[in-house]
This record gives sequence, C-alpha cells and structure tokens, in this order.
Amino acid sequence: MIERERPLLANSLWEATANQALPRRHLEESLTVDTAIVGAGFAGLSCALHLAERGLKPVVIEARTPGWGASGRNGGQVIPGLKEDPDTIEKLYGPEMGGRMVRISGEGPSLVFDLIRRYGIECDLQDNGWIQAAHDSSALDLLARRAEQWQRRGAKIEHLSKSETARLIGTGAYAGGTLDRRGGSVHPLNYALGLAAAVRSLGVDIYSDSPAESLEKTGQGFLIKTPHGEVRAKQVALCTNGYTDHLWPGLAKTVVPFRSIQVATKPLSENVRRSIFPEGHVSSDTRRLLNYFRLDATGRLLMGGRGGFTDAGLRARFSVLKHVTHRLFPQIGEVEWEHAWGGLVAMTQDHFPHLNEPAPGLHAALGFNGRGVAMATALGKVLAERLAGKAVEDLDFPVTQPNRIPFYGLRKPAVTSLVVWYGLRDRLGF
Ligand SMILES: Cc1cc2nc3c(=O)[nH]c(=O)nc-3n(C[C@H](O)[C@H](O)[C@H](O)COP(=O)(O)OP(=O)(O)OC[C@H]3O[C@@H](n4cnc5c(N)ncnc54)[C@H](O)[C@@H]3O)c2cc1C
Repeated sequence: MIERERPLLANSLWEATANQALPRRHLEESLTVDTAIVGAGFAGLSCALHLAERGLKPVVIEARTPGWGASGRNGGQVIPGLKEDPDTIEKLYGPEMGGRMVRISGEGPSLVFDLIRRYGIECDLQDNGWIQAAHDSSALDLLARRAEQWQRRGAKIEHLSKSETARLIGTGAYAGGTLDRRGGSVHPLNYALGLAAAVRSLGVDIYSDSPAESLEKTGQGFLIKTPHGEVRAKQVALCTNGYTDHLWPGLAKTVVPFRSIQVATKPLSENVRRSIFPEGHVSSDTRRLLNYFRLDATGRLLMGGRGGFTDAGLRARFSVLKHVTHRLFPQIGEVEWEHAWGGLVAMTQDHFPHLNEPAPGLHAALGFNGRGVAMATALGKVLAERLAGKAVEDLDFPVTQPNRIPFYGLRKPAVTSLVVWYGLRDRLGF
C-alpha cells in the first residue's frame, strides 16, 4: 500500500517548504526495549513525546521519514472536536466517558499549540480560529445547534452572518458559518518534523527507512523485524492510520483508506491576498464531500477535497479542485498553480477514531477520519498514558476491540456509491 500511494506526494507544497529534517538513521541493530512505536506521524510522535516526558524511553520505527504519511501532507487545519457533536457523543458513550471524549477533542488544538510553544517548533502557527462555512441554510441550522452544544460546555464559538463569512473568508458562496476560536493552522510537515526533533531531544531514537515487516508475539512480548534490524519490546503501539498494512492480522480491515488531495497556487499578489482570509483564519465547509481551504504563510491559496481509492483519474480530480477554487474566489484571476498532492486518510465505520488493544500488550490508535492534526496528537497522549500503565477505565478515550468493517472486500463499490449519493445530496440540499 505504501509503494502504490507514493506518486501522491510528488509535488507537495509542504515538502517544498519544509524545514531541514534531522539526519535519517535506519535500524540495523537488535534492540530490546520496553515500548516500540510503529509509525512516526502525529499519533506516534505525540505518543513517544508524552512517554519521554515521563522519563520513559520507547523507540519509534518509521517506514519512511517522520511526517511522511498524512501528517506531513494534510491541510494543516487544527480543528477541535470529533465528527459527531458533543450531545451525541455523550448519548453514545454516557456522560462520564462521553464527557471525557468531548473534553479532550475540544482541547486538542490547545494541546497542539502548547507543544509547539513549549518545544519552539517553527511551523507557522496561527491560533486565531477555524471557520466552518455552511453551504446552505439547513447546514447553517446544523452549525447553530453544534455551536450551542459547545457553548454550553464553555467553548468560544461565534456565529457568522452571510456577510461576515464573506468578509472573513473572501467568498460570498456560503450561507454563513461559525468561527471556532479554539482552532487554527500549522505547516503540518514542519509540525511533524518539530515533534520528531522534540522526541529526539528527550533521548528517544526514531528509526527512519525501517518498515516493520513482521510483528510476532513472543514469550516476553513482541518481536518486530525490519529489513536490517529487529526490536524486542514488551509492548507495541501501532500508529499507522491510513497506511496500516498487514502487520497485525485484521487491523487494516478496521479502516478504509481514502485519498484526500490538495492544490496550491503561487503566492497571490498583495492586493488579492488581502481579500482572502484577511484575519488569518482557515476554513472547511459543511458539505458531505467537503472542501477545505486556507492561505499558507507566503500567501498561496490552498484548496483540498476528496481524492479517490487509487491514483487513477487524479489529474481530473486536481482540475476539479482548481475549478472549485476559481468559482469560490474569482478574484484570483489567471493564477499559476504550483503544487498538487495528497495522502491517505483512514475512515472508520462509526466516524470515531479507535484506540484498540488487539492483543495484551499490543495497542493501536487509528481512524482519524480526515481530522487528525489535533486528534491524533491528543490520542497519542492518551496512548502514552495507557502504555505508561494507566488503567483502561481511567483513560479519556474508550479502548475497544478492533472491529472489522463487514464486507470489507466490497468497500470500494460501497464507498463509491456513497460518494455519488453524498454529492447528489450536497447539490440538491437534502
Ligand atoms: C490530504 C490530507 C488533508 C488533510 N487535512 C487535514 C486537516 O486539515 N486537518 C486535520 O485535522 N486533519 C487532516 N487530515 C488528516 C490528518 O492528516 C491525519 O488524521 C493525521 O495526520 C493522522 O496521523 P497519524 O500519525 O495517525 O498517521 P500518519 O501521519 O498517516 O502516519 C502513519 C505513519 O505510519 C508509517 N507506517 C505505516 N506502516 C508502517 C510499517 N509497517 N512500519 C513502519 N512505519 C509504518 C507510515 O509511513 C506513516 O508515516 C488530512 C489528511 C490528508 C491525507
């Protein structure tokens, strides 16, 4: 899966503007450790960092380089909350656990911003809010209900009229929106590289170019083999999200990997730039097949949206995104497009991320449903608490058994039909 997905990273804005990464080092020894973490995205790095802050010394094994997966390719929108609204979460999980889930998901952005500040991570942090833009009046009602639920829990969310939304985003295409002051944005790859540097600064080794090729249960724990080395660990955390392979039987079938893609213009002229996100917010809309958009630190306009299951038809999908950008922001005129790239998000059937324990001592955090900048960081921290010995019932997120998606072999036609259905509903507004 990792190889097949590679072309998507070819022309990433974030790669082109990344800070210098730490020197790469692959695993060529035989290590014995307490904890091994597989995957160096936000989840794995946050887990490693929070373990290291407790004085523990895990190792991190990454198939490529830190941030190579979705963490280094995303829209960089730091969004509070889960896909479901707070009342629904508390109804589903009960007031105690549901309440904790609501709290950590709402505080996810502040955890990200705090780590960035504490470790001096240079990643173009903007923490002045995320706008959710309503594509029609019923979506505006939904946003009002959502905002009311969060406001009851003390969150700072403002309602935006159609004209305020138009001014703060730079397009009159939306019926209105909400400005959630808890959110913001980062340069995602630089955030991941900064987390990796912070992890290393606390004495934890991260091995790049070291794919875990096998994972076996042993008498004392687990044995992970990489092409040139191996790790024996009492406990293992799999933080592989949309890039989950067949390392542990069945885990890959708990998520559906789906491409999300982005395009970016050249830096806009000062004049045009002033009309788009004049106060430095970022935004995504309420469509089921949503678009997400923002400026980067040098004034490039980015537009993101759905990709597909394979790289086939990618060029056409990039063109659709450019067309959407011109429709929303006609003021950009004949602009030059500089970057087009994408990566894999991991969708789950219940739209929640999952903390799983597929076997005693084996842990997984995955399924961020395209919303993992804050949430993967937050669950990485919860995972660290679990690995450091916290009881399941005391965690801020439920631990569940891996739940294979039924009829997994039919996921492509099933999701393709769903995409067509969602597109129709977005267009016709029902
Ligand atoms: C185009 C795009 C736009 C997005 N936009 C946003 C956004 O604006 N806001 C938001 O909140 N979320 C967004 N997301 C989602 C967000 O990026 C993810 O939820 C988050 O990065 C997941 O982090 P992670 O650490 O779980 O996984 P990843 O970052 O995907 O990391 C998994 C890592 O595991 C490694 N790996 C896999 N298998 C192995 C193995 N066998 N051995 C060793 N290593 C292995 C991979 O190489 C990879 O580096 C977006 C995603 C994409 C793709």
